[in-house]
Amino acid sequence: AEVTRFGPSPTGFVHIGGVYVAMIDQDVSARTGGRYLVRVEDTDQSREVVGALEQFERAFDYFRIQPTEGEGNGEYGPYHQSARERIYLTYVRHLLRRGQAYLCFATRDELADITARQQATKVPPGYYGTWAIWRDADPEKVAAELAKGSPYVVRFRAPDEAAGQRARFDDAIRGELEHEANRNDVVILKASDQPVRLPTYHFAHAVDDHLMRTTLVVRGEEWISSVPLHLQLFDALGFAPPRYAHIAPLMKQIPGGKRKLSKRKDPEASVDFYISAGYPADAVLYYLRGLANGRLAEMPLAQALTEPIHLVECGVAGPLVDLVKLEDISADHIATLTGEQILDELRTWAAAHDPEVVTVLDTNRDLALRALAVERDGVENPRKDLRKWSDFRPAYGFFFTELFTPVTDPADERLGGLDPQLVQAFLADFADDYQPLDDGREWFDQIRQLATKHGFAPSPKEFKKNPDAFPGSIREASQLVRVTLTGATRSPDLHAVATTLGTEEVQRRLRALTR
Ligand code: GLU
Repeated sequence: AEVTRFGPSPTGFVHIGGVYVAMIDQDVSARTGGRYLVRVEDTDQSREVVGALEQFERAFDYFRIQPTEGEGNGEYGPYHQSARERIYLTYVRHLLRRGQAYLCFATRDELADITARQQATKVPPGYYGTWAIWRDADPEKVAAELAKGSPYVVRFRAPDEAAGQRARFDDAIRGELEHEANRNDVVILKASDQPVRLPTYHFAHAVDDHLMRTTLVVRGEEWISSVPLHLQLFDALGFAPPRYAHIAPLMKQIPGGKRKLSKRKDPEASVDFYISAGYPADAVLYYLRGLANGRLAEMPLAQALTEPIHLVECGVAGPLVDLVKLEDISADHIATLTGEQILDELRTWAAAHDPEVVTVLDTNRDLALRALAVERDGVENPRKDLRKWSDFRPAYGFFFTELFTPVTDPADERLGGLDPQLVQAFLADFADDYQPLDDGREWFDQIRQLATKHGFAPSPKEFKKNPDAFPGSIREASQLVRVTLTGATRSPDLHAVATTLGTEEVQRRLRALTR
């Protein structure tokens, strides 16, 4: 049974890569009958953003990735690092007593000076060796600083034998890895002049992963270089380290190559992008699982969502996030839903993102179901134009009076630049004689006959042969009806649209232009 954990830092941005990692955490723990816990890593209070945790909760609610354990629900809490201050201090004292940590009074200026001198002599930056000025300080000197009340941090004393050594460890994705051993005396407890004495991430996570019984740490590959330090910390504390799985970052295709999805540059790096556009959670999860396992994309969604994620298949090269592919998957997914299911999911999304759509759906549920059943032109599948819930308004909005803006100007350019008087005369006639016929061919014959009466060529071919003799062909005449009924120059089958709208509404729209 694997115990996995996810450690969000409340910095106000939820990266889609976080959902990716948490999904893997959840999957591995569930599959092995283990636990998946969420621990809020809020030790860096200077970076903390108000409302950031709510943002996390909203994101993980949306994707239905719920921990089995966390604040208010678990035996190893508190699950906010900021509330675990005393626990960390106990372990800091333990290391101090054993000489594996020490107080460091180096001032900001001294530290800057050390870094500058290291750079000048091409020594890798870090607080170690002869640069570590408080490492073996005279106890009397330390006592004097303490008596003066000078601020200090607590540093970990990197094992002396680390110099020249390599750290070897196993990664569940990458196999055996080797890195230079850590020699840096890193800070484990932050400055004593802060109101709360919090540890650094490195120290806090080692203590927590031990106390919370973590067996497998799944996290971004940017932490690989910290593993040598983490292993030393576990060792100094007398804890057995967890296993690691370092995940390659999600990538974006750019001209000439690829790069990491960037929080600053790419809107799709943020979970808000998927949530506010209304990509169904299942479609996104399916896509992310496909990225994790490489081969899932070929499986039916329902099967893929229950197919285990295999860490070894996650790969060392970051997978590309391709929104076109995601949209295809999402459209396919939505196409498998019934009209009722679509309306339910759409409504849930709209309640938070487009309240007007909720009102419309609630007052026109039957019309909405009929609209969703109308086949779309040129696509085999009836609902491929619905790739995400925000597509509903542009693709289906015209069916609803409340969301439709009638075309009122006979010179409107969507009408194809025909003589406004002809436009009005043609549409007025159509409105007056309109027959809601069931048979599609007969229905279109009405337009054909009327078009001929108003001087349109009977076919595009005739019109092409003699363009000066006609204002246009039956095609241009049908476009007048299309634009008037739907507000767009492309639409689903007109007969189906008109049938769905009903005679009264069809006539109302036609007449909006003739008044
Ligand atoms: N709080 C860390 C982060 O936000 C988590 C690192 C880890 O999972 O160990 O990146």
